[in-house]
Amino acid sequence: MAEVGFTALEDIPKMREVLKHGFLSGKLRPVSARKEQILRLAYMIEDHADEFRHALALDLGRGPLEADFLDLQPTLHEVMEAYDHVEKWSKPEKPSFTLNWFAMSPVIRKEPKGTVLIISPFNFPMLLVLGPLAGALAAGCTALIKPSEQSPAVSELIAKLIPQYLDKDVCQVVLGGVPETTEVLELQWDHILYTGNGRVAKIILTAAAKHLTPVTTELGGKNPVVLDPKSDLKLAARRIAWGKFTNCGQICASPDYLLLPQAIEEEFTKELLDVLASFYPETPRKSSSYSRIITKQHTARIQRLITETKGKIIVGGESDVEERYIAPTIVKDVQPDDSLMEGEIFGPVLPIVSVKDVDEAINFINERDHPLVIYVFSQDEAFKAKVFDNTRSGAAISNETVIYHATTGLPFGGIGPSGSGATTGKYNFDMFTHSRASLNGRGWIDLILGGRYPPHTPAKSKKL
Ligand code: NAD
Repeated sequence: MAEVGFTALEDIPKMREVLKHGFLSGKLRPVSARKEQILRLAYMIEDHADEFRHALALDLGRGPLEADFLDLQPTLHEVMEAYDHVEKWSKPEKPSFTLNWFAMSPVIRKEPKGTVLIISPFNFPMLLVLGPLAGALAAGCTALIKPSEQSPAVSELIAKLIPQYLDKDVCQVVLGGVPETTEVLELQWDHILYTGNGRVAKIILTAAAKHLTPVTTELGGKNPVVLDPKSDLKLAARRIAWGKFTNCGQICASPDYLLLPQAIEEEFTKELLDVLASFYPETPRKSSSYSRIITKQHTARIQRLITETKGKIIVGGESDVEERYIAPTIVKDVQPDDSLMEGEIFGPVLPIVSVKDVDEAINFINERDHPLVIYVFSQDEAFKAKVFDNTRSGAAISNETVIYHATTGLPFGGIGPSGSGATTGKYNFDMFTHSRASLNGRGWIDLILGGRYPPHTPAKSKKL
């Protein structure tokens, strides 16, 4: 792979100027021009699919199937959804009919916000960069993208390919870490999408506030799983384990911890162990279906959480910082003040917290920050409703886990500490679009509304 270095700080303001110029030139006003750029993005992914697979293996230890399933295919889907629907999405909308106003032809124009900034994390280094970019292009915006320095292989590939496929005044890539992003944030943008952790989100929001720039934040948190003791336990174990250990738990929507009813503790933990044995028959360390942690630093962070837990490790616990390896680990008897309950784990460790019943589970969730998603495993509608109706989270998902991210038409986003705003599909388009109110006040309307002009005589008040 060709070496692409970090962006020189002094180049960053010039890049923004080029993009601003591109926007003001009006070249992306015609929907056909937007479609052309989006299609080029699709070709970029297809033409270089093998290079992307290779880069995903280097960064995250992903096998080809997961590279396709988690990043390549969903990214292409996002891009083609934008391509297929941009005409419909960008049509002006009419508000609902009202007799008083219809003569002024009220209309909501779908206008591009301008030159936008997309800052992305390492865990889906294609999808979370190129998916929103497709939405920005569909909206008619020019965009600066800042992929993560923690996934250098994919980020450098994107930086190498984007100038070959997209116009330079439509999209630019900044490579780098904190100094480069800090420089980017000095500048004024028309919208910022930040996907990453809550600590950095505060830095982004503070920087954006200086320019009154609107921000969408896609963050993480601790996503609980609530289990109905009467549910299909085999199904629950399979899906929870898949959601937790795919991408080594480095998914914002991974189940973070399990609230397990005491009555089924033994039975369910046995199901989980059986599932793990079936997922990685040759042991996870040797399995080509098991990823790696993004950096040694993150591996050491997760290793510390495991070392410090006061819970009982029932499987896993092994780690190797040099190889960025953490075994799939399940820990039971975890107390609320445990190291594993400090914050989002973002790794392949599943803490099990014992609860007496669903009421205790609901209280446990409500005492903490609103998560990105709450998972419930139950075949009983009343059980699901009880959990969802009495809690708050970005999403409410039953009998599934992380796959909901890919569901066409659903908004993806958090609430409060887990984020604000929504992404994917049309929500990406909406994020970068301004709904511009528009009226056409025809002259003859004063025959009806002329009473508004001073002097305000009693006769005029009667007319109004
Ligand atoms: P990361 O370290 O890759 O950082 C994300 C971005 O923030 C990078 O581009 C990085 O350069 C930038 N950044 C880091 N420190 C910065 C600073 N001080 N100032 C300015 N920019 C800075 O990834 P991460 O934040 O560790 O990503 C993991 C987090 O992202 C998890 O919390 C996860 O839950 C969350 N996430 C959320 C979603 C979602 O859609 N809700 C999706 C994926 C990941």
